[in-house]
Amino acid sequence: MASLKFEHIYKVYDGGVKAVSDLNLTIDDNEFVVFVGPSGCGKSTTLRMIAGLEEITSGNLYIDGKVVNDLSPKDRDITMVFQNYALYPHMTVYDNMAFGLKMAKVPKEEIKKRIENAAEILGLTPYLSRKPTALSGGQRQRVALGRSIVREPKVFLLDEPLSNLDAKLRVSMRSEITKLHRRLQTTFVYVTHDQTEAMTMGTKIVVMKNGIVQQVDTPTNLYDHPANVFVATFLGSPQMNLFDAKLEQDGNDYYAVITKNDSKFKTKIHISTIHQLISYSYIGKDIILGIRPEEIFDVDENEEDAVPVIIDVIEKLGSEIVCYCQIENTDISLVVKLDGRKEVREGDKIFVKFHTRHVHLFDKDSEKRISGISNDNYIKATLNYDKSNIQFADKTIEISEETKTKILPEFRKDCHILMKIPTNSFKLKSETDTDIAFEGKIEIVEQSKEQTLVYISMPHKKSYIGVKLHKHDYQEGEKITLYVALDDITFYDENLQNRIVSRYAFTDNSCSCKIKTNKKGVNEISFGKFKLKGNLGLEDGEYKMTLPYDCLHTVNKRKDVNKTSHLKFKCVNEDELGLNTILYANLDNFENYLCIKANKEDTCFKKTKQIFNVDLDKIIFSKL
Ligand code: ADP
Repeated sequence: MASLKFEHIYKVYDGGVKAVSDLNLTIDDNEFVVFVGPSGCGKSTTLRMIAGLEEITSGNLYIDGKVVNDLSPKDRDITMVFQNYALYPHMTVYDNMAFGLKMAKVPKEEIKKRIENAAEILGLTPYLSRKPTALSGGQRQRVALGRSIVREPKVFLLDEPLSNLDAKLRVSMRSEITKLHRRLQTTFVYVTHDQTEAMTMGTKIVVMKNGIVQQVDTPTNLYDHPANVFVATFLGSPQMNLFDAKLEQDGNDYYAVITKNDSKFKTKIHISTIHQLISYSYIGKDIILGIRPEEIFDVDENEEDAVPVIIDVIEKLGSEIVCYCQIENTDISLVVKLDGRKEVREGDKIFVKFHTRHVHLFDKDSEKRISGISNDNYIKATLNYDKSNIQFADKTIEISEETKTKILPEFRKDCHILMKIPTNSFKLKSETDTDIAFEGKIEIVEQSKEQTLVYISMPHKKSYIGVKLHKHDYQEGEKITLYVALDDITFYDENLQNRIVSRYAFTDNSCSCKIKTNKKGVNEISFGKFKLKGNLGLEDGEYKMTLPYDCLHTVNKRKDVNKTSHLKFKCVNEDELGLNTILYANLDNFENYLCIKANKEDTCFKKTKQIFNVDLDKIIFSKL
């Protein structure tokens, strides 16, 4: 039994592929966590780092509170079951399971006891004396699992263990592994690209894309509250319908107007979805509207607001029928799931309605969820940089001088921002003076097996905030005061693209340099071992040179290197802010470290030095 903790974990392979970026995650003892995502998203790399088979480039991995980055695989008390489980063909099932234990010099009696126990759990007792060739695929996979069980590991790692099995076996092995987890009461970490495996087996699912965690949640929350368009469409089959739409208000009612080419279609949006918007400024704006095929249902032609659709293609799946349709006289297509007993044919006209409580709304640019967020609240606020505060509703939060030095330079003015407050960071009692109090009224209570999700209205704020609380009888209409620690709040730009406060302070990126004009009339700028050339029209002499953090641009292809004004050096650290990575470098001449705004794919964890083209026009020179 063990818990795992990932703290700012990065894995960058030789050649600079960022396989895993800034992974922060806690896996509790006895949890069944599934990593899921398309091929190449970094799942196996993560698993291999836990096993110790892959070196961690940066960050700390903890097992039971101890850093294990440098601990060898055999000392980690972890076993791994792979997709290609190689059993020894000349050995019996018993010997296959005993092999690792014999190597570890476990006494014979103990080996026997453990194998008999594992065989019992896995239903392999009758097959212990058989050779692998005399077993079915499923039985062989169970032997592979048995080999792991007998080692009594603290953590089980499973890397797509079922992908070589046929569909039927996969289904039965899925439930066998779930049962095994229950019996062994051990931490399981499972990797798969198969959404059904993830949804049916995991108690906690980590969805990854391009090495970045997209959402960590229970299967139900992932399905009902996907954090972005990627998660929304990755889980669920057929996938969620997505439409370009605009939110509109008409008196007390709200609509989404879906448009495609010249076609328009108006659908009502439930008031609770509007109350759960992260900001009312989305009303009147273009957004993405999502609705799952099963949340569109067929109705009688005479029903109010019934939408006529023409069925183009039908897929009969037995218990349900998937219909690929087009809204009549429009270019707008949609997928609808109907009851399997329904009599429909291609070309038929049917009438449908949207389950308006179950529409999903996403920001058009960042594709992040903007309504009914289960894990985080995004609250619109104003940053007053000069006054060192942030204001929202009727509250003012003071920000420290230290925080101010970490704010991205382009946000150092009065501007709108979003505060991200995790729904589980609210407390019923204040613990420090800096805790922020939220007084509100309980509007909606959603009770699930695990927790209570409460939506609260606050004075001066139109939309509600979501709060996860431990089970308790909360009454709608009740007044409540909740507290959040300032450290639990993260600040984002208005478009949800970037975190705007980095982990480290921005330095002034200044150093002294010499400028000399060469025979051709070109300025040569030298500082330390570096030299840049350009027509700056400056007289010769000593200057203070300040590099704005966006004046260096990473170049990865030789042909793109600017011959006269480029710099080549190694960066030592980085911070991922969303669209941007901030790189940090120590250059001799600079008093402090240098901060560079780079693209999200850029990384300091490459073996080779990074080349940067320099935008000379942006550099500020002042004569010394
Ligand atoms: P997944 O398990 O999600 O399919 P992986 O963790 O295997 O993804 O790979 C993540 C990324 O790292 C991919 O882009 C892959 O090409 C790259 N990668 C994996 N292993 C290596 C390696 N040994 N050397 C270089 N790149 C690798």
